[in-house]
Amino acid sequence: MRCISLSGFGFKSVSSFFNLRALSFTFSSMASSEDSLRRALADKQSAVEAQANSVRALKAAGAPKPDVETAIEALNALKLQKASIEKDLQAAVTGAADGSAVSREAFRQAVLNTLERRLFYILSFKIYRGVAGLYDYGPPGCAVRSNVLAFWRQHFVLEENMLEVHCPSVTPEIVLKASGHVDKFTDLMVKDEKTGTCFRADHLLKDFCNEKLQKDLTISAETAAELRHVLATLDDLSSDELGAKIRKYGITAPDTRNPLSDPYPFNLMFQTSIGPSGLSPGYMRPETAQGIFVNFKDLYYYNGNKLPFAAAQIGEAFRNEISPRQGLLRVREFTLAEIEHFVDPEDKSHPKFSEVANLEFLMFPRKEQTSGQSAKIIRLGEAVAEGIVNNETLGYFIGRVYLFLTRLGIHENHLRFRQHLANEMAHYAADCWDAEIESSYGWIECVGIADRSAYDLRAHSEKSGVALVAAEKFSEPREVEKLVVIPVKKELGLAFKGSQKNVVEALEAMKEEEALEMKANLETKGEVEFYVCTLEKNITIKKSMVTISKEKKKEHQRVFTPSVIEPSFGIGRIIYCLYEHSYYMRPSKAGDEQLNVFRFPPLVAPIKCTVFPLVQNQQYENVAKDISKSLTAAGISHKIDITGTSIGKRYARTDELGVPFAITVDSTTSVTIRERDSKDQIRVDVEEAAAIVKEVTEGRRTWEDVWSSFPHHSSVSADADD
Ligand code: AMP
Repeated sequence: MRCISLSGFGFKSVSSFFNLRALSFTFSSMASSEDSLRRALADKQSAVEAQANSVRALKAAGAPKPDVETAIEALNALKLQKASIEKDLQAAVTGAADGSAVSREAFRQAVLNTLERRLFYILSFKIYRGVAGLYDYGPPGCAVRSNVLAFWRQHFVLEENMLEVHCPSVTPEIVLKASGHVDKFTDLMVKDEKTGTCFRADHLLKDFCNEKLQKDLTISAETAAELRHVLATLDDLSSDELGAKIRKYGITAPDTRNPLSDPYPFNLMFQTSIGPSGLSPGYMRPETAQGIFVNFKDLYYYNGNKLPFAAAQIGEAFRNEISPRQGLLRVREFTLAEIEHFVDPEDKSHPKFSEVANLEFLMFPRKEQTSGQSAKIIRLGEAVAEGIVNNETLGYFIGRVYLFLTRLGIHENHLRFRQHLANEMAHYAADCWDAEIESSYGWIECVGIADRSAYDLRAHSEKSGVALVAAEKFSEPREVEKLVVIPVKKELGLAFKGSQKNVVEALEAMKEEEALEMKANLETKGEVEFYVCTLEKNITIKKSMVTISKEKKKEHQRVFTPSVIEPSFGIGRIIYCLYEHSYYMRPSKAGDEQLNVFRFPPLVAPIKCTVFPLVQNQQYENVAKDISKSLTAAGISHKIDITGTSIGKRYARTDELGVPFAITVDSTTSVTIRERDSKDQIRVDVEEAAAIVKEVTEGRRTWEDVWSSFPHHSSVSADADD
């Protein structure tokens, strides 16, 4: 197929170095085939041992030579069968679907080499030997990043009329104290007890399980299942549980093999101080969301005091990761693009949900994870209707994220939405899903989509004293019955003296249910035991100390704290996965070289088009320069290459940058346009070349359409070297 569109660019059947389909097969069927292979191996091992015993017995009994030889032959046949199962098991656990498939690591190295050589990224401060977890984007990487962000703005901010803001990275402590980051933004760390080197506790456990599963062919199917369960529920483990598992498996420090400390929390924020005095502590923000929450009151007013509405922010986030591995995926400074969609907690429906309800994709609900099943294809409408996804607005964003990622070029078979496990999710959250993309590192969380309820706005209201609330005005005043609790301060003062204030506050803070229970008890028994948490003890409340009654009131509006639904995009991770999903190798025409290609959709490609005079010749150069001018006027990023290098080499150089189209000037009246993946060429008039490239790169026309409208060009010389 020669179809090129925004969503369907590439993934045709080229001889791909990293066989994505094979990988997907390997993953979905891996656990079951691996288990049966482990069982077959254990059976075969027993058969080998039994046969070896009978050979020994025959020899000991002085059996005739032919009998012994037949038994030895049978033993050798069994050993061969065992070796063959071992080979299959090895292939199954390392993810290589057959002997010829290259390992994930080799694939990753090929991608990284190309990315590094073509300056998609550079290790920051490289001439000083760099710093782990800090990377620069080089020219093509910068262009890809801008394209991804431009599409993000178009797909989310523009489409939903979001209010975009831009807030500082340096954040005063009080903000992050209110949000809970100062106390709780931690990862569990363990220390090498002799050298003091630090490691992330969950990463060591994950490595241990993966290594055992992949390298130790002797473990039983039951142990393999247990280790897979640990991997599936890793994010759910508490500090104590993690410590217990590390002890159970005898995990020690990598390299030194020294014993490890118990896990303890390490705060990931970079601390700083604002101003010269050092008296005003601050942090580099670990996420951009807080900037939006603290501006809620103004944004709500800007939006005409109406809900729902969403605010968005793109900016850098900083996390002092304990031991950043996984190259570009876990870094210490990265771009986040975040949306905070504010909604009435009593109405989380979404007017545009029907637009995404029929999307079907891989979802991995909590239940499937804890019961050891695989992710499965679910229709989004069904997931919301059945309550697998908590509400329509959350479902709407899951659908929009799916469309965003697949339009960028993320392959749908390697994208899944995984629901957070119970412990993984913050206690206040109503529901959370991560968009995970499969790469050579495994499944990676790239977008978090959470219904955070009213937690953030409430936390900032309490700390700042500024009410971050919304109001629903009633068309007619409504009569409501309200429970009123009035502490009798004089009586409480006499009974509790200095603690009177704590008791009054605790009585006023009672929930309706609790107050009604107290009222009933006071009426029947005259007094009741009451726990005051600020005093950390029970006190006795008598009937004379409080009046609890129901009163009717007229209300003109309902004031409430909005819930927030937050899709949070790690832009760097998405881009890295995009690199892996777009990369393939194909042989050069002579077959003596493997050439790298990134099949980026035009939307993402760092440069949309190249312009090459076929040979060095002033007339062709002039035509190339004219076309370049037209492309600039049309706003199409391009590169003109007038070097004398062979055309095939020039194509190969730009295929490696993922440039989708090449205009080759081989006459003064007409030129060819070549499409990167099919290498097909059409012939067009010089004057129309720029316009055609503009149409196909902007997705207004498909390559298929262009291919059927213009004469085809086939040139032996054109691709001679590629
Ligand atoms: P979180 O607030 O932890 O859910 O993170 C939001 C998103 O930021 C994640 O979905 C990741 O894509 C991204 N992210 C988190 N930590 C890092 C990191 N250390 N390096 C790169 N991206 C990250």
